[in-house]
Amino acid sequence: MKDQTRLVTLGRDSKHNHGIVNPPVYHASTVLFPTWQALKTKDQRPGRNVNYGLHGTPTQFALEDALTGLDGGFRAKLFPSGQAAVAAAILAVVQAGDHALIADSVYGPTRNFCDTYFPRFNIEHDYYDPLIGAGISECLRPNTRLVYVESPGSNTFEVQDVPAIAAALKPSGVKVVMDNTWASPLYFKPFTQGVDLSVQAITKYISGHSDVMMGAVTATEEAWPEVEKTARLFGQCAAPDDCYLALRGLRTLAVRLRYQQQAALALARWFEARPEVARVLHPALPGCPGHEYWKRDFTGATGLFGVLLKPRPEAALASMFDGFELFGLGYSWGGYESLLIPTGEGTRRSIGRWHEQGALLRVQVGLEAVEDLIADLEAGFTRLSQYHE
Ligand SMILES: *Cc1c(COP(=O)(O)O)cnc(C)c1O
Repeated sequence: MKDQTRLVTLGRDSKHNHGIVNPPVYHASTVLFPTWQALKTKDQRPGRNVNYGLHGTPTQFALEDALTGLDGGFRAKLFPSGQAAVAAAILAVVQAGDHALIADSVYGPTRNFCDTYFPRFNIEHDYYDPLIGAGISECLRPNTRLVYVESPGSNTFEVQDVPAIAAALKPSGVKVVMDNTWASPLYFKPFTQGVDLSVQAITKYISGHSDVMMGAVTATEEAWPEVEKTARLFGQCAAPDDCYLALRGLRTLAVRLRYQQQAALALARWFEARPEVARVLHPALPGCPGHEYWKRDFTGATGLFGVLLKPRPEAALASMFDGFELFGLGYSWGGYESLLIPTGEGTRRSIGRWHEQGALLRVQVGLEAVEDLIADLEAGFTRLSQYHE
């Protein structure tokens, strides 16, 4: 079956829920055992047994199963935010004495996590050029255990050669953890490209309506036990009402992304033709670093891309931003409404350097009509260019 069909059928079990289409929401901490004997012989295998709220109920399992079905991999675990999933995936792989390699274009809070907690845990780490590909072999040390990839990178959108990295690491058994939030498992299949653990912020496209915080880690069978253990011992779980919302969002992922892909490409091309714009960073456009890997490995592009403006005074930018009617000024993305935000902190680098002088903006394209979005942007660029100090 096609993914579009699977999005409708995965994680549903109407036969055991009175014929009701959507899986019900179970709120639980305590789960009662009918007898002494049942308590003593309860299945102790972690992960799939309803014996305590923290370990999951059929509500969480429905979403986890749906994600696994879409992602590939062995099992998925839910976390209370994307960032919690990032931290857990990393801690499921490394321990004291290990060395980790992190893409230099990584999501800012992931960088902060590594820079803050790795020294405390006596884990060494280096950043690598996201376009390194098979050259990752040269960065390995005898104690390297983890290579962290994020493709495309946050804010600067470098697409990585994930299969080449994974293939180069295979002989040494180094684990590849990937942040796959941008493409979602609809447009990039991490496990067919050699990834061991895939992280997603469900907060973004899966939930899709700007009202849920959640993350997920999907893992191969080999990597799974450490993910499950990390979640359990750090006490991480996702709330049942949020799981219900995320599962409801998942049902429409294919139609939302199809529109957002098309609308984002239309806007990206419009930006490219504007005199106020220095560069557009969109994985599906040839100017984007690593575009050839996007073409080879991804089955689509989503609605998030970067626009580098020519240098303008800050007050001119403020005048542009303060007048938008449709483009909201706010963090996160993946919802049904469009957003536009400057990404100053998002261009931090450890090995390379971001040389551009103009403001780098991140565009999140929602479900509005393209004509209306362009009219909003056109008026914004008029405010930008007409501003005089
Ligand atoms: C937003 C985001 C996260 C973190 O998700 P939260 O749910 O906001 O914690 C992780 N990775 C990427 C690439 C993101 O964009």
